[in-house]
Amino acid sequence: MESQESHHKLHVIFVPYPTPGHMNPMIDTARLFAQHGVNVTIITTHAIASTFQKTIDTDFNSGYSIKTQLIHFPSAQVGLPHGVENIKDATSLEMLRKINHGISMLQDPIEALFQDLQPDCIVTDMMHAWTVEAAAKLGIPRIYYYSSSYFSNCASHFIRKYRPHDNLVSDTHKFTIPGLPHTIEMTPLQIPEWLREKNSAKDYFEPMFKSEERSYGTLYNSFHELESDYEKLSKTTMGIKSWGVGPVSAWANMDDDRKTIRGQREELGKESAELLNWLNSKQNESVLYVSFGSLTRLSHEQIVEIAYGLENSSHSFIWVVRENDKNEDKEGFLQDFEERMKESKKGYIIWNWAPQLLILDHPATGGIVTHCGWNSILESLSVGLPMITWPMFAEQFYNEKLLVDVLKIGVCVGSKVNKFWLSIGEDHVVVRREDIAKAVEILMGSSQESKEMRIRAKKLGDAAKRTIEEGGDSYYNLIQLIDELKSLKKSKANGEK
Ligand code: UDP
Repeated sequence: MESQESHHKLHVIFVPYPTPGHMNPMIDTARLFAQHGVNVTIITTHAIASTFQKTIDTDFNSGYSIKTQLIHFPSAQVGLPHGVENIKDATSLEMLRKINHGISMLQDPIEALFQDLQPDCIVTDMMHAWTVEAAAKLGIPRIYYYSSSYFSNCASHFIRKYRPHDNLVSDTHKFTIPGLPHTIEMTPLQIPEWLREKNSAKDYFEPMFKSEERSYGTLYNSFHELESDYEKLSKTTMGIKSWGVGPVSAWANMDDDRKTIRGQREELGKESAELLNWLNSKQNESVLYVSFGSLTRLSHEQIVEIAYGLENSSHSFIWVVRENDKNEDKEGFLQDFEERMKESKKGYIIWNWAPQLLILDHPATGGIVTHCGWNSILESLSVGLPMITWPMFAEQFYNEKLLVDVLKIGVCVGSKVNKFWLSIGEDHVVVRREDIAKAVEILMGSSQESKEMRIRAKKLGDAAKRTIEEGGDSYYNLIQLIDELKSLKKSKANGEK
């Protein structure tokens, strides 16, 4: 009886890409599918699964039909130490190439699993262009998971199409992005390096863009009230369906335990208690959370500027710093800084990895310095926080424009150059301490500008809460997508075309 039931149930396979910014939203989305009655399988490798398996087990034990299907990462074949499978663990270009090589070798075992499991639909990360053909062979819909904003996909599309940055007299001159409903200006230096000039990375990304056009539709971790103009534009421009089902982190991680364990191993739980005590000792909306996501590398000089910028501002802060930066810091600058901040209780350093959802959700947190990774943006605005924008690479400069020029909930710190995250040189300082302290004062101070920004951010936070409730747009989109996939399954079973 049970097996017959599961046979009839819609079965969706999720294929994530192993980096937190892509994986976190996809895992949350997979869990939402399961919570709405879908039989879900997530295909991934061992080290990657260990970062979220506990959550999946909890969901499974609560009665949802969700599991991970593990495949072997070919560490030895590509010359990587055992357990290095995540893009965020690459410390050099060479290592990044090896991880990507390992990921590309997973195509055959994943395809074999598709054949064995015979799913009704594949939801695949944007980076796996090859899944278009795999889904076509099975005669099932392939859904492209885009891990950033509608806005950035539109901006990138029109810049690639019209190349408005060609023929400018210099890289620091502004151009207007064609085709958008708002006047958005950028400089060539702010768009990804591979788009500025023709290089091999273009060939790397092109199949991915083409694969979107050949997909059944695109899933976005976004919501209608946030970027409705761009949702509409992307539907007409890309010519395929799309569904905004975000913010998925708020939807799938409603309780504190989930927020603590999302995307990390268990032992961090103990450190969270100390952090929560520190946050509990602070006034509401008085703490600035500073994080540059999972990939960004900073030069030592830039770290020194951030430290002084934060120390010289008149606000408390939590700053996530890489353990490596402490290890490479021969003069002990960061250690001295941490001690000073502990003594004065002004700052709290988190080494390596923060329970980000837990911090953002705490009433003492009043704002964030962000590199404009889409997940950090959504996670912050889901709880109504305004932001200091410090984009670094990829589509982050587009996201900054959405926050500052369109939504008006962001203060620019003054980042000017889009630079691939692993090629930051030691002497690379992009933003000075005075500019950092100034942006902090604008965001966290009590000026009219700051108050208005805070009100707008809170309104978006309220809209984010409404959209994932019954009757909300994202809620509706998810249910509608699942229903549509069920009808497709039924038509297929009835032999209809
Ligand atoms: N994250 C976290 N703790 C950290 C750094 C990042 O939990 O110390 C999570 C964050 O909540 C988000 C993801 O990792 O879900 C980072 O994605 P984002 O798109 O913001 O940036 P990326 O890392 O892709 O540059």
